[in-house]
Amino acid sequence: MWRSCCSFTDRLTASLTRTDFMCRDTGLLQRFQSTLVVAEHNNEKLTPITLNAITAASKLGGDVSCLVAGTDCAKVVEQISKVKGVKKVLVAQHASFKGSLPEELTPLILETQKQFSFTHICAGASAFGKNLLPRVAAKLDVAPVSDIIEIKSPDTFVRTIYAGNALSTVKCNEAIKIFTVRGTSFEAAPTEGGSAASEEVATASPAGVSEWLEQNLTKSDRPELTSAKVVVSGGRGLKSGENFKLLYDLADKLNAAVGASRAAVDAGYVPNDMQVGQTGKIVAPELYIAVGISGAIQHLAGMKDSKTIVAINKDPEAPIFQVADYGLVADLFKAVPEMTAALNK
Ligand SMILES: Cc1cc2nc3c(=O)[nH]c(=O)nc-3n(C[C@H](O)[C@H](O)[C@H](O)COP(=O)(O)OP(=O)(O)OC[C@H]3O[C@@H](n4cnc5c(N)ncnc54)[C@H](O)[C@@H]3O)c2cc1C
Repeated sequence: MWRSCCSFTDRLTASLTRTDFMCRDTGLLQRFQSTLVVAEHNNEKLTPITLNAITAASKLGGDVSCLVAGTDCAKVVEQISKVKGVKKVLVAQHASFKGSLPEELTPLILETQKQFSFTHICAGASAFGKNLLPRVAAKLDVAPVSDIIEIKSPDTFVRTIYAGNALSTVKCNEAIKIFTVRGTSFEAAPTEGGSAASEEVATASPAGVSEWLEQNLTKSDRPELTSAKVVVSGGRGLKSGENFKLLYDLADKLNAAVGASRAAVDAGYVPNDMQVGQTGKIVAPELYIAVGISGAIQHLAGMKDSKTIVAINKDPEAPIFQVADYGLVADLFKAVPEMTAALNK
């Protein structure tokens, strides 16, 4: 009907106008985004993955606000207000936020969402973010997108599937997009150059369904695994927990963090928080040294984005050599002490 009563010129103009509108619409879409990044911290310091999440949020094109919820978190508010790209810091302080329990943070995020109507809510894909955002998404009745590695547009994200063997591009049609961000896939936002204003937000009454009692963290003078520039990891080839001392000695020379394969963790050689891989931590250091690790896909999923990979394995057919930049076919019990001794010189 429309076609038959319009001249060619009319139709051309109409189609140009529609295209033009669509282009402008995309631009408008980007400008109208507003993203809330839920900050992870310990009341004293911001956890580095929040900076990666801020970079991801900035790629969406609109305003980026950060929510800092804690018990006494003025120092974190100060740090985050200087982060480049952050427009506003929303602050909520209450005793019930001790330990960042998702049962307590979720009502706060829902209240904040009611007030500000963000188009996106995100956090780092750490234990904190993975614990919190699915609950927020369920309460908002939207499907979250987890562990994204790229943002194509405000509604299209890329994430890995099949232990990192395939990439899936996901279009999210939800009114509020909720996602977690893989820290190693986005640069950290600069910690200087920003001047965000801070604003108190009303805290919802405590849910009171769970209580944070205590946490016992492994104390280590070594760098933290996910942010270390150098990681030395050991596998089942180490044969015992005592033998990990070889790796600690090498790591001390390189100012490196020490990681492990799941086989080494399951065998009880080292604690669970050292596990690298699909069901462990994702790392992407400048240098990753895999010692006595075969290179199963689930392990590679956690370290294959490292800039330089060195593998030491006595089996020349070990799959780890397929991803390694430098491979040493050798007995680790001979090679590792030799490397440490060479660094002593
Ligand atoms: C659902 C699921 C999730 C998983 N998640 C993870 C994960 O997050 N992280 C992870 O690592 N694994 C994970 N796994 C387990 C994974 O499939 C492998 O079993 C595991 O990574 C193997 O660990 P490894 O390489 O230390 O042990 P092995 O495969 O037993 O390899 C030991 C290697 O040490 C070498 N070696 C032995 N002695 C010496 C020596 N003297 N000198 C030099 N080399 C030596 C051997 O040649 C061998 O290549 C997962 C598995 C499943 C099913």
